[in-house]
Amino acid sequence: MNINPQSYTVDLDWKKPYPSIDHDNEAFWDGLKEHKLLVWKCKQCGAVYWPKAYCQNHDNEPFAANCEWTEASGRGKIFAFNIHHWAFHPGFKEEVPYVYALIELDEGPLISSQLVGGDLPTDIHTVGQTVEIVYEDHPAQGFTLPKFRVVRE
Ligand SMILES: [Zn+2]
Repeated sequence: MNINPQSYTVDLDWKKPYPSIDHDNEAFWDGLKEHKLLVWKCKQCGAVYWPKAYCQNHDNEPFAANCEWTEASGRGKIFAFNIHHWAFHPGFKEEVPYVYALIELDEGPLISSQLVGGDLPTDIHTVGQTVEIVYEDHPAQGFTLPKFRVVRE
């Protein structure tokens, strides 16, 4: 699959587990639908977290009032990855082999997702490779998934 635009739409029946959307991460999922990657930032010291967390650097206001959602660049580096040759859920059967990666965002936090596009990692030298977000829209299901693709510079 050659993915050049910053987003693409998948209009198929959903056969995989649904994302777990709750009060604490609802803003994150709403952001994805608008093609924004939101991370959780401390207004007091600037530390960035994902998922939402209390800042570890000092005392926090109740209900994390000293933190807010802010838009991330959507870029990062491959921290680790593995290539799945076996589907652990029937919904993934037609996609194997696929690449699942831990991405270190430029802002600091780690996020895990699938790597998409034609330029997928094959060996350990791919660790540290620059990636950027691609938004996979699922209009029928009402959510957008954050996927990543390798950026050649
Ligand atoms: Zn802080």
